[in-house]
Order: sequence, then C-alpha cells, then structure tokens
Amino acid sequence: IKFEELNLSKEILKAIEELGYEEATPIQAKTIPIILQGKDIIGQAQTGTGKTAAFGIPTLERIDPSKKTIQALILCPTRELAIQVSEELKKLSKYKKAIGILPIYGGQSIERQIQSLKKGVNIIIGTPGRCIDHIERGTLKLEDIKLFILDEADEMLNMGFIEDIEFILDKTPKDKQTLLFSATMPDPILKLTKKYLKNPEHIKV
Ligand code: AMP
Repeated sequence: IKFEELNLSKEILKAIEELGYEEATPIQAKTIPIILQGKDIIGQAQTGTGKTAAFGIPTLERIDPSKKTIQALILCPTRELAIQVSEELKKLSKYKKAIGILPIYGGQSIERQIQSLKKGVNIIIGTPGRCIDHIERGTLKLEDIKLFILDEADEMLNMGFIEDIEFILDKTPKDKQTLLFSATMPDPILKLTKKYLKNPEHIKV
C-alpha cells in the first residue's frame, strides 16, 4: 500500500519520497496504523524487511518537539545498529527539524554524550550498557518516555542483555507504549512480552 494511505504528516511523506520509498513494506503497512493508535506491538520480522521505518515513522509522528524531554527510547544490541537506526530516523525527520535524535553507545566519549543529552533530546537510540551507565549517573532521564522500543530483542538476549533491559524498563513510566521487534521468539523474549507489554498485537511477516 501507499504511504499516503497511512495518515502521515506532510513532512514525513516528503522525507519518505526523497528516500525513494514508493510503497510501504508488509511490516510497515501492518504496524504503522497500530503504533499510531498507541497500541503495544510484537513485530516479528527479519532485517531487510523495513522494520526500522516501521517503528521509526510512527515514533517521529508521536514526538512533541516543543518539549525538550526524552519521549522515546530505542534499545539496540550493537553500536552499529544504534548508529544505523539513528541515521535512518534523521533522514525520515529531515522536514521535522526540531526533533532531537541521539545515539548513545559504549566506546564513545561519555562526556560528549552528556553534553549532547544536556541540550535536550527527544529520541535516544542506545545500547543497554551505556544507557544504564547514563541512568546511574542521572544523565539519562526516562520519566517522560511515551514510547519504548526493543529492536532485535533476540539478539539482545543472545548477548546477555535481558537483565539490563529489565533494569531499564523498570525505570520508565508504567503508562508508556512498548514495541518489541525480534526475528525469532525464544521463551525468554515471550516472557518479557508477557511481563511488560499490554495486550500486544503480534504481527509476523
Ligand atoms: P531494515 O529492515 O529496517 O533494516 O531496512 C532495510 C532497508 O530497506 C533499509 O536500507 C531501508 O532504507 C529500506 N527501506 C525501508 N522501507 C522501505 C520502503 N518502504 N521501500 C523501499 N525501501 C525501504
């Protein structure tokens, strides 16, 4: 289906057109309307299906850039993925200029990240360890989070991040929207969804 049918803002539609995306991929067509309604989602999709834009587009639509607070947190297993997701979000938000997007990951200067966080950011794309480091320093405040997204949840499980994810989830408001994307659904991931997602729609492509 066409992106024009998905009730998106003209700024987002313009960016999508510039990126050359002609039609929504199946995961995008199925998840974008549900995410825009504010519902929790389990998205079962491999890399290459367009899953980043599937959660990225509605995330950008739900941010209020007049507030300089962190409203969305996207957790990724690796720094490479965090950078990649951040780059795609920046391209999609090209005409929604006021939205602040920041990747935070290990290996990069923490001081630099703290300076960037102080400027007021709306969307954080982070790896679990570095997010916890900032939470413990008091430099990453999660009380205004509306959207919490786990990208490649099964990879995070394989890398031993399950407890870290729960630590971070426990620092976020109860009434947020939670999206979990994973190529596979091993038991610990299913348990996580049962514990933290509210009445989620399970979408598989
Ligand atoms: P992902 O599954 O998020 O890793 O995306 C795979 C690739 O598909 C990325 O390089 C995106 O830029 C691209 N892509 C995402 N959505 C679309 C679309 N609707 N049409 C064409 N390409 C897309």
